[in-house]
Amino acid sequence: MSEFNIPKTMKAMALIAYDQLQLVEVPVPQPGPGEVLCRIKAVAICGSDPKMIHGGYAFANWPPYFPFIMGHEWSGQIVALGDGVEDYAVGDRVAGEAHVGCGKCDNCKNGHYTVCLNYGRDGHDGKIDVGHRHYGFYWQGANAEYNVYKTTGIHRIPDNVSYNVAAMCDCAGVALHGVELAGVTPGGTSVIIGPGAIGLCAMMECKAMGSGRVIVVGRGAKLEKARELGADVCIDFEKEDVVERVLELTDGIGADEVMECSGASDSPTKACQMVRKRGAVAIIATYNNQKVDIPLNTVNFNEIHLVGSKANPNVSGKVLNFFSKGAIDGEKLVTHSFPLAEYEKAIDVFENKKDGSIKVVINP
Ligand SMILES: [Zn+2]
Ligand SMILES: [Zn+2]
Repeated sequence: MSEFNIPKTMKAMALIAYDQLQLVEVPVPQPGPGEVLCRIKAVAICGSDPKMIHGGYAFANWPPYFPFIMGHEWSGQIVALGDGVEDYAVGDRVAGEAHVGCGKCDNCKNGHYTVCLNYGRDGHDGKIDVGHRHYGFYWQGANAEYNVYKTTGIHRIPDNVSYNVAAMCDCAGVALHGVELAGVTPGGTSVIIGPGAIGLCAMMECKAMGSGRVIVVGRGAKLEKARELGADVCIDFEKEDVVERVLELTDGIGADEVMECSGASDSPTKACQMVRKRGAVAIIATYNNQKVDIPLNTVNFNEIHLVGSKANPNVSGKVLNFFSKGAIDGEKLVTHSFPLAEYEKAIDVFENKKDGSIKVVINP
């Protein structure tokens, strides 16, 4: 039982059709076995959110139905436990991951639960529920006062990390998974293309993990933010030839690793051209254009380790520690916050990069 007064219904921001959002009153969900009910305290808007609102993920069947409650970068407080939950208590402050794998397929068993082989088999649409969840994309998300989560998808927040910063656990984790896949060369040169929230987290993570020099490629206010947060070299792609400049900075050899976080269709090619022979390129961004050129002869001749990076498996504890220790300066990334009722305004500020926005957070 709970010391919290849990109402029967709650406010939620629902996507009722592409480009149509509505504040609705819906039942508060009940936690099943192995699940907890959370009072949502903060939800960070992700680059994928406006894209989903506009129908940009129809190809992936996100959302799978209307009305749909989005929101996947969240933090909150546990207010009720489902049957069999012993490792968490009512009152715990927690942050969530978007992906919970089935736990049974080969990929899940090997720790790769963001590429679960039972994706979407969550019980809706007449499918068997094998336990897979993709909160905010394929399963009800956090743009609401409450939501239910499996305990396998939550993590305790260190006391000195605020809810607004902890809501970036997922985002900073997406960055760290890519950084881990590329591998940071101690004392080497890392390049981050695209200083949005993910790129800025990747930059701070590379520094924390021993990169000797982090170069950030971008423009405008976000590139300035990278400078402020400690980028060693900032390259404005509107003013300079990025590949030439990186080669010049590395005596013609190229960077040790490149994290592609921009989603621009010419960035993967540039990444392959600026990385050294046997260097690594992690593709962390997603692309509007499904067909993006990759210079495969360069990949082959230079033995480039080109790796796709999907979401944030097994990194949440690490990024929460990075926030706690200040290795990632989360407070500087959260530039705006809005109540749930002003979600559309928040999306506009985020999407149209108004008022120097980096990370925009909703407090339901
Ligand atoms: Zn996200
Ligand atoms: Zn699985």
